[in-house]
Amino acid sequence: EKYLPNSERYNEMVYNRSGKSGVKLPALSIGLWHNFGFIDAIQNGRDILRTAFDLGIVHFDLANNYGPPYGSAEENFGTIYKNDFKPYRDELFIATKAGFDMWPGPYGNWGSRKYLVSSLDQSLQRMGLDYVDIFYHHRPDPETPLEETMGALADIVRQGKALYVGISNYQPEDTQKAAEILKRLNVPFILHQARYSMLDRWVENGLLDTLNENGVGCIAFSPLAQGMLTDKYLNGIPENSRASKNLTYLEKETVNNNLEKIQKLNAIAQQRGQKLSQMAIAWILRQPQVASVLVGASSSNQLKDNVKALEQLIFTEEELQLIEKIIG
Ligand code: NDP
Repeated sequence: EKYLPNSERYNEMVYNRSGKSGVKLPALSIGLWHNFGFIDAIQNGRDILRTAFDLGIVHFDLANNYGPPYGSAEENFGTIYKNDFKPYRDELFIATKAGFDMWPGPYGNWGSRKYLVSSLDQSLQRMGLDYVDIFYHHRPDPETPLEETMGALADIVRQGKALYVGISNYQPEDTQKAAEILKRLNVPFILHQARYSMLDRWVENGLLDTLNENGVGCIAFSPLAQGMLTDKYLNGIPENSRASKNLTYLEKETVNNNLEKIQKLNAIAQQRGQKLSQMAIAWILRQPQVASVLVGASSSNQLKDNVKALEQLIFTEEELQLIEKIIG
């Protein structure tokens, strides 16, 4: 049936400026890493994206290799976009990336100009878009000169295939170098996409400062540590959860190793009158450099649940100290 978006969709969502750019992002964004491949039911993906847009989540995050198989999340997104979202293209901020393994041979991985330019062309084709709002280099390439990779991003912007550029998984030092090159090339570098959660705080060790100094925003991925920072693993590993599947990146052992922390954090969340997942999101949003928290969801109900984090964003000093004792 035809999709009619919620007319109240902009009333509740919070929008944060990304660094010193003109772009505001929803406090929560939705990622298509899992649950949008050909192995998944597209109807569920459609339901998640409609729910997202209805909640004011206007930023959708993709990458060339999301699926599985590679490319299938973009292709499924293209189908959903064509049917549901085409009239709203200018209300959406759509991201894709290249940098991980995508196709065989020397030109389907890492950070050459050859790879980045052809990969984005393929992504646009799969999604049925003329341009993306932001194109990222997905991970640093230790062998390709940074000038080449950043130069490719610059030309992609000049060709109108992306409006802004970003990088992901770069350490502070390379982030600084990238920022300098992109500044020289006059390219709008507005976002660094980095893993950040209560269970992985590496960005606090220099990256957020580097971004602040360069006026670049941060978008935090895996804020729920792939589901560990929710109530779903409190009593074991349920069927159909990410940790129960073999093709994923979340090991059962990792879940078990973190269980004690998760239980303690859950108790604090309960005292705050919110769910652990909501507290985990609020805890990241307290960082001024973080423009958006990039969540995943295997159902639209999870997404609705996560957006309720916005109802309680404030932490007392005492709560922060209690949390610090558990995860510090
Ligand atoms: P999260 O940490 O938000 O984990 C999402 C998963 O947690 C869901 O798929 C679901 O898993 C579970 N979950 C979410 N909400 C709830 C809830 N309310 N209750 C119970 N369980 C819940 O993020 P992701 O790891 O999925 O990453 C988010 C996005 O970040 C990706 O889609 C991608 O766009 C981006 N990303 C970028 C990377 C990069 O290198 N730049 C790397 C990784 C991610 P379940 O299936 O168990 O229900």
